[in-house]
Amino acid sequence: MKEIRKFGSLYNTVWGWEGLKCLYPTRLDTYGQWCSHNCSYCYARALLDFRWLWHPNNPKFIDLKEAYRIIAEEIPQNQITRLWWMTDCFQPVERIHRITYNVLKAFNYYKKWYLIVTKSDLIASDDYIKVLDPKLAHIQITITSTDDELAASYEKATPPSKRIQAIEKLASLWFDVQIRLSPYIPPYVEIGKINDIKCDKIIVEFLRVNHRIQKRFKIDYSDYTLKEWWYNHLPLDKKIQLLSKIKKNQISVCEDVDEHYQHRKHHFNYNPDDCCNLSFN
Ligand code: SF4
Repeated sequence: MKEIRKFGSLYNTVWGWEGLKCLYPTRLDTYGQWCSHNCSYCYARALLDFRWLWHPNNPKFIDLKEAYRIIAEEIPQNQITRLWWMTDCFQPVERIHRITYNVLKAFNYYKKWYLIVTKSDLIASDDYIKVLDPKLAHIQITITSTDDELAASYEKATPPSKRIQAIEKLASLWFDVQIRLSPYIPPYVEIGKINDIKCDKIIVEFLRVNHRIQKRFKIDYSDYTLKEWWYNHLPLDKKIQLLSKIKKNQISVCEDVDEHYQHRKHHFNYNPDDCCNLSFN
């Protein structure tokens, strides 16, 4: 089992735009900068591929002793750590090595909160449900399409239909779980199927488009007219129109565009102070 320390730390606090807007900027990866889900649009992949650091079939591991030290000594008691910095902590390799499983036990032992973001249904298996502490765990399961076949053409994670089952199982057990529609690619999502999911909470992150993304998805990009920084975005009125079709009790939007972020914060998000809308008992 190898350690990885080649591209920054596996425990990181993001800064800049994201750090300013996100309430949970501190993140921990259990499998380093390698992800066998290998999503074609992956932002981490774009960052690491040209550095020859993206090896989707050869994930590396965090050193467990180092992970325990970070959890015990570096993570403050009142902080929420997101388990997903660059990659998914529940890749298939987790079924064999159970690094994330042991990291979760350490979070529980030290009574520190964690926010899991994943495209795997492993989190809802009986084994993992036993290790999730309902007082400490917050879970977001990502959906990018409601069509299993279509999703398989650009990501190798658990099929969306099984992710939906995982969301419903966790929600039925009263975990703080959300549907994470991210990136939201409107032509790929049947919104009626999202509305039918038995889970009251959803977080939406709209697709942002650059030349790399345009090559990945064969969709009509003519509505992506708003340019900010390196990306093109849907204009606010178009986003509002799309969001009006989502029927959930608690809707949040994680926003990239500054003006849209302010709009969400003051007029839309269920919890104006927390885009992730985590619940605490
Ligand atoms: S699951 Fe996330 S980290 Fe892994 S390849 Fe897909 S987008 Fe990248």
